[in-house]
Amino acid sequence: MKILVLNSGSSSIKFQLFNAKTYESLVSGIIEQIGENDSHAKIKFRDENGKSLELKRDKAIIDHKAGLEVMNSLLIESKIIKDLRELDGIGHRVVHGGEKFSKPTIINDKVIHQIEKLIPLAPLHNPANLDGIKSSIEHCPKVPQVAVFDTAFHSNIPKHAYMYALPYETYEKNGVRRYGFHGTSHHFIAKEAAKYLDIDMSKLNAITLHLGNGASMSAVKNGKCIDTSMGLTPLEGLIMGTRCGDIDPAIIFYLARVEGLNIDKLDNMLNKKSGLKGICGNNDMREIGEMAKNGDEKAKLALEMFSYRIKKYIGAYSAVLSRVDCLIFTGGIGENDIEIRKNSCSELENLGILFDVKANNHRASELLEINKKNSKVKVLVIPTNEELEIALQVKSLI
Ligand code: ADP
Repeated sequence: MKILVLNSGSSSIKFQLFNAKTYESLVSGIIEQIGENDSHAKIKFRDENGKSLELKRDKAIIDHKAGLEVMNSLLIESKIIKDLRELDGIGHRVVHGGEKFSKPTIINDKVIHQIEKLIPLAPLHNPANLDGIKSSIEHCPKVPQVAVFDTAFHSNIPKHAYMYALPYETYEKNGVRRYGFHGTSHHFIAKEAAKYLDIDMSKLNAITLHLGNGASMSAVKNGKCIDTSMGLTPLEGLIMGTRCGDIDPAIIFYLARVEGLNIDKLDNMLNKKSGLKGICGNNDMREIGEMAKNGDEKAKLALEMFSYRIKKYIGAYSAVLSRVDCLIFTGGIGENDIEIRKNSCSELENLGILFDVKANNHRASELLEINKKNSKVKVLVIPTNEELEIALQVKSLI
């Protein structure tokens, strides 16, 4: 039984094939630079003797449909499947499910139409996700295809937490509210933590921190998300690689007036030129760490700001949760950056968080517990696996 998970971006498709019984990853791969002359595709897998192998194709791939054809031919060459049509299910990551989708959903024409209607809320992501979905249906019309939404885990957030204090009609007419993102990752690590701590998921209270290029935090109460740091779009909340996170909205009007910047320029500035990059000129946390070690003051400031913002959210979510069983770090930064974890959790003893600097001194390829033994709140590092979570959700539906 095999389930393929597709994550379709505007010019790339990431994919992973799972054995649906054991959840073993059979193949992972990527098709990049779709629509350009130098597009390429590669897959990684192990042969029957456990040896790691890689197959590549360098050729112009004009669109997502052509991308899936190349993926199919690489998978056939790997001998792991005979054809995409033999799959038991295909799961698609879809970024925005709006208020419509709170669960993984079998895709049909009506669902496609509803995802299309949500494009104004995710103009960069939903069209690319749809390209992948439509191409995949053309290829394998008989294989069940499931949409798994990044926003779904946040669908239980209560109204007092998802509403913005704007005129009510902006919500009713334009759908302006907090939706939240990275839901699949927050959900996955919360479930893994519940298993590790031997707490029933329906009783788990956790603060989850997904820290990658995009970064967000969630408050999970009794296994359900009750608040999250990203909002209508992924721009709100934590400081990110190139996104500013929380700012005073009046900064936008101020800059428009004094610099004559229009909406598109401001959008570009806040999404692409801000965050860590805006402060120190770099958005790669590894390089920023090196720059700071070499005395770069702006890099040091960027790191301080990054951890300070996380700390504020830990405080806020501790307050709304009242009892916290654990903090969980994940994502490229959360799993690997020892300093960021340490600085975000320092001096939080008043919240019951006793951080163990020595236990923290590792990158995490598997679950790490980084709190002192007598810490009321456990601090865990759990590598995320959004693709596996999507495959699990697909299996539960088909
Ligand atoms: P994305 O949101 O693009 O999926 P990732 O979860 O891959 O992002 O995280 C990317 C971030 O993780 C980058 O800032 C990168 O520098 C950082 N990162 C990756 N490995 C390390 C490491 N060993 N130490 C510190 N930061 C790391």
